[in-house]
Amino acid sequence: MIRSIRRVAVVGGGIGGAAVAALLQQAGFDARVYEQAASFVPVGAGIHLSPNLVKVLDRIGAGEAVRIKGCRPGAFTNRDAATGEILFDLPLGDASLQAFNAPFLTLTRGDLLGAILDCVNPDSIEYGKRLSGVKRHSEQVDLHFADGSEAQADLVIGADGLRSKTREFLAGFEAPHYSGQVAFRGSYPTALLGGERMEDLTKWWATSTFALTYYLDAARDVFYFAAMTPQPSWPTDASFVPGDKSEMLEIFAGFHPAVQRALRTAPPECIKKWALFERPSTFVWGDPRVILLGDACHPMRPFMSQGAAMALEDAAVLVRCLSESRSCEAAFDAYVATRSERLLHVHEVSSQNTFMRMPCDPTWVFAYDPTRMPIQTGPIVTS
Ligand SMILES: Cc1cc2nc3c(=O)[nH]c(=O)nc-3n(C[C@H](O)[C@H](O)[C@H](O)COP(=O)(O)OP(=O)(O)OC[C@H]3O[C@@H](n4cnc5c(N)ncnc54)[C@H](O)[C@@H]3O)c2cc1C
Repeated sequence: MIRSIRRVAVVGGGIGGAAVAALLQQAGFDARVYEQAASFVPVGAGIHLSPNLVKVLDRIGAGEAVRIKGCRPGAFTNRDAATGEILFDLPLGDASLQAFNAPFLTLTRGDLLGAILDCVNPDSIEYGKRLSGVKRHSEQVDLHFADGSEAQADLVIGADGLRSKTREFLAGFEAPHYSGQVAFRGSYPTALLGGERMEDLTKWWATSTFALTYYLDAARDVFYFAAMTPQPSWPTDASFVPGDKSEMLEIFAGFHPAVQRALRTAPPECIKKWALFERPSTFVWGDPRVILLGDACHPMRPFMSQGAAMALEDAAVLVRCLSESRSCEAAFDAYVATRSERLLHVHEVSSQNTFMRMPCDPTWVFAYDPTRMPIQTGPIVTS
């Protein structure tokens, strides 16, 4: 461990921030989380927990909670959106344990974040702390918050997401790019489907549109859909707006009857339309005293469902680098060297939206274990 680093300030108590705080505390660091939200509110959208992500949860101690709550799909089925023809069927369930050394799960983001936060010392999380400024001294960093308060730390980790203030401090303000895609998302009781059986996890592929359908809980009592489509502009600052059900049904009218039934069944009030944002693959890593992870560093299109997985992989690797290095500089270089190539690859494949559309071997994504793989100290790969 680096002797000059004891107090670590984590900006953002989302998925990546909570995970890095839990891992830092377990490694003996005095980590505190500063989160802008007034409190933790579990929100309901769905998320895939791929095996590479679950390995980090196991290291944190959150693995059992998500295994109890989450749905464990028997397969990840990729189908042609119109005909329903199977394009690629990836066996999961026990096959995921054998092939990737961990299960594949689906559940709500709120349940995922709640499970991680349960592994963070509750006295170390400060809500209502919106970072407004950062001032670096030679051996200390000052943090300023919108409520007028301040904090000091030896090291700052910026895990404050897509519109990161920490990133702005490091690289100047640059708004994230609207990707030209929106997603209609919603969840509702499976019982509303009237006994019609939907597969555990299906991606329905058309040319420029696609839909994901899956369950959010172990009992398969809650059903979820995300239906993505191009939209030329996003004329609001809000991340999402209420979704118009008739607009959604019209856009996806050519999809297989099973998808149309699932969308038609959605109660109008559950449908939200989300804008999808991204930044180019020029990642901002920070420097040895102010380090970025997750969406603050490398936001990507959600088409591989790997954004949260990459934030958790970052957290695991960064804490290993901080624990095993002799200086902040060495830890920072090792973190960037170890993460760059993989993140560039995942960012690129996510943008292309091709992952698992055709038969492929997804071992490179799912079998990866950031808690064990070698830490690199070699030259840094840049985009
Ligand atoms: C439609 C969609 C579907 C997705 N599906 C998946 C999926 O299935 N699987 C997957 O792995 N990923 C998925 N993702 C991506 C994933 O949600 C993100 O990549 C992930 O949440 C990034 O985690 P993070 O901790 O970096 O940021 P966030 O989860 O955004 O957390 C950032 C935190 O920082 C806080 N914050 C922000 N600014 C400040 C400030 N100034 N001061 C203090 N706190 C601040 C925020 O309140 C928030 O709590 C999806 C994304 C989208 C849009």
